[in-house]
Amino acid sequence: MNVHDSERMHGLLLAAGLQPVGSAREADVVVVNTCSVREKAEQKLDSELGKLRRLKKQRAGRPVLVLAGCVAQQRGAAALRRMPFIDVVLGPDHLGELPALALAADGGAPAEVRTTFDLDRPAFLALTSEQAAPSAFVSISKGCDERCSFCIVPSTRGPERHRPSAEIIAEVRALVQLGAFEVVLLGQTVNGYRDPSGVLPSEPNDGTGFAMLLRGIAEQVPELRRLRYTSPHPRWYGPAVADAHRDLEVLCHHVHMPVQSGSDRVLKRMIRRYDSAEFLEIARGLRSARSDLTISTDIIVGFPGETDEDFEQTLSIMREARFFGVYAFKYSPRPGTPALRFGDDVPEEVKSERLARVFELSEALQAEHLTSLVGTNQLVLVQEQGPRGDGRLCGHTIRNEIVHLEDSKELGLRAGIVPVRITRAWKHSLEAALLGAPAATRAGGGPVRLPVVTGSDG
Ligand code: SF4
Repeated sequence: MNVHDSERMHGLLLAAGLQPVGSAREADVVVVNTCSVREKAEQKLDSELGKLRRLKKQRAGRPVLVLAGCVAQQRGAAALRRMPFIDVVLGPDHLGELPALALAADGGAPAEVRTTFDLDRPAFLALTSEQAAPSAFVSISKGCDERCSFCIVPSTRGPERHRPSAEIIAEVRALVQLGAFEVVLLGQTVNGYRDPSGVLPSEPNDGTGFAMLLRGIAEQVPELRRLRYTSPHPRWYGPAVADAHRDLEVLCHHVHMPVQSGSDRVLKRMIRRYDSAEFLEIARGLRSARSDLTISTDIIVGFPGETDEDFEQTLSIMREARFFGVYAFKYSPRPGTPALRFGDDVPEEVKSERLARVFELSEALQAEHLTSLVGTNQLVLVQEQGPRGDGRLCGHTIRNEIVHLEDSKELGLRAGIVPVRITRAWKHSLEAALLGAPAATRAGGGPVRLPVVTGSDG
């Protein structure tokens, strides 16, 4: 979600005539987009802001400093009181105002705070640049009506609001025309989507509205090559979503379905509204719809009151669900969340030890899965240069395995869907040899600016 917001803000500033520069030292405007889901990210932010304060002192008040995103929403006017060198505090529902506010601040306007939620007329920012990335995000809803006891998102992103289906389908079509091969639908509980315009049916209220949207996109944008979504909530996985996975060729054979814990006792205290048996039943239903479907997940270790036995149940559900990728984190108390009342009673060293065991098991499960693919032929969406900066390309399969191409010089720096043979399994990715001409190239065949991989936002 934050990556998508950053891309859209980047596009808005370009459209307003600003150009990217190499460092904050050369910039007229610096936007710090923020995440408040974990305490560590907030601590890093404060140290970055300290550096920018020193820079502004040296440069007589420049650059204009915009604090955007969830921390901006959470701190609001208090951010200005604590850090008066900030020029604009911009919550997630006001990103469209960024260019005007930044330029006004550059002209000497007083500091501004924009943190209300657009409840009456929710706005969704669309792409403004002339070329889409090979894989592009489209927001279909924002905010969250769940109340998971550890999560700050409902207070930083507001209540759930959905985007009319016609607007979503139009943006998907536009992105494909601009060169996207793959579209990733975004929402905090993406599969709880219901069309507010009523064009697509949303009953029964069990993911049917989301399944209808998937079908609508597949039918109305047949040129789209791949369709993904993130992040679903297990309780909106009704049979209609599994049926969509069975029927729609365009729908990727991968879901990222956060489980958070394998202990029913902990899940209850987390207010996740499913238990481990229901989660596993959903995973089985999705796999019977698509036998090669991969499932990745999020796990929190050290939630208040988590015992050794609870934690063993988390390891057990990891094995049973055969997760192909795990994003795991230590619990950290977040302001205003219901879990604060439980205290934070799992010692730090126990959290660290549990986190290490989750990663150890996750790597073993991933290695087993990746090794099973060696010698098979796959189609890879090439979308970026590999991390070594040696011109080798990488991309991902329809099941979301990362694939590095052994020799991709003949492709040039072009995005495309290419046939490959998997030659080797690494710890977290695969290596492959090209098997021939691309199966699909970008609309218009133009060259593609492929970004170098620098990391993951998790
Ligand atoms: S579903 Fe739960 S974890 Fe996800 S954003 Fe909503 S409250 Fe947070």
